Amino acid sequence: MDTCTAIVGINWGDEGKGRMVDLLTEDFDIVCRYQGGGNAGHTIVNQYGEFMLHLLPSGVFRPNVMNILGNGMALDPEHLTREIETLRGKGVDISPDNVMISERASLLMPWHRRLDALEEARLKDKKLDTTRKGIAPFYSDKYAKKTILAGELFYPDVLRQHLHDLLEWKNLILTGVYGDEAETEEEINNWVKTYCEPLVPYIRNTGSYLADALWNHKRILFEGQLGALRDLDYGIYPFTTSSNVLAAYAPIGSGLPRARVGRIIGVVKAYSSCVGAGPFVCELFGDEAEHLRQIGREYGHLPHRVGPIDLVATRYGVRVQNATEIALTKLDVLSELDEIPLCTRYRLNGVEIDEMPFPSILSRCEPVFETMPGWKCDITGVRNWWDLPEAAQNYVKRIEDSVGCIIKWISVGPERHSIIRRG
Ligand code: GDP
Repeated sequence: MDTCTAIVGINWGDEGKGRMVDLLTEDFDIVCRYQGGGNAGHTIVNQYGEFMLHLLPSGVFRPNVMNILGNGMALDPEHLTREIETLRGKGVDISPDNVMISERASLLMPWHRRLDALEEARLKDKKLDTTRKGIAPFYSDKYAKKTILAGELFYPDVLRQHLHDLLEWKNLILTGVYGDEAETEEEINNWVKTYCEPLVPYIRNTGSYLADALWNHKRILFEGQLGALRDLDYGIYPFTTSSNVLAAYAPIGSGLPRARVGRIIGVVKAYSSCVGAGPFVCELFGDEAEHLRQIGREYGHLPHRVGPIDLVATRYGVRVQNATEIALTKLDVLSELDEIPLCTRYRLNGVEIDEMPFPSILSRCEPVFETMPGWKCDITGVRNWWDLPEAAQNYVKRIEDSVGCIIKWISVGPERHSIIRRG
């Protein structure tokens, strides 16, 4: 059967997808990234150390796994080069034998990062709190058909002319719209030489590689970035990312449009966290929030906003991702709490609702909180469902019943084997 698997986020991102991919890659031959770029990272803790992967698929730590950076990604050559160097420095093998870049992936250029920062500065207090990695300007250009494809690196004369034409246009925007400095052709050509040319051996027709792999019954895993609530079409627009993070997009963004994604592992965090601006109905504030932030280590380029699990948003995320099973992560973080809060419904204009409303009215919703008894003991060593305290089991079952999808995995620590397999 032409069936593939996807591991995707159900919430706002940072659910712990990387640790699930790292755990499960031993069952796969190929891991593909299909969207996004340097804007969000997957944290992985294994025998090599602790890593933050932004662009490389999380299968790079396993021997005999091919890792593909698909056509749907925002391929930032500078960032990718640094990532490869960091991994090599820690003894991880990275070569064209285990990493491939789609010839149809578009290159994220230095001007994309500059434009991201300039636009955030222009927006002042209305800024979107982007990561300033150039993602929105990049995808805008891709859809405007004004990006360089990685495969153009094979044809230097075509590339040189294309760069010249794009630079002429970009400089009109940098100088005319934002009053900033122009970029020179020499700077861009040097950048291409330093960061793009060394990547040429990795660039392949990944579509035909994947088609052959599928034909030969290779096991293919699609690795999603961020979460359903950040999806460009189905998330909390405009507080979304600029790409489609849903499992449904994975075959297209990987280079295998005919693939069927039969198994979709939706990763849900045992509480909520959200980075950046936008409505976050279940948000906690003050000491309660600070405590959760500290025990969950919820810090990144900004301190993360935190709250209890949001069952309305999670149910929606499970539905749009079409998750066939759930991996619930960071349950251990809640072990200290006397009572576990849950956001079970929203209140809108005095009426309680349990369906995700239209994004523009989300900021008018208030959370309806309930609590369940905590378990107040360390569960990081538990590996068996029946050894989990009853209160923890009840919490897991409550989430499962509420979102209508089986929780097959419960993660109780960041390390590869801190996991309970259920059923
Ligand atoms: P991703 O983008 O979805 O891969 O998520 P992140 O890389 O942001 O992961 C969230 C953080 O939680 C990382 O620091 C992980 O190491 C950590 N983590 C993942 N699963 C667990 C867990 O079950 N318990 C604890 N305590 N930490 C976890």
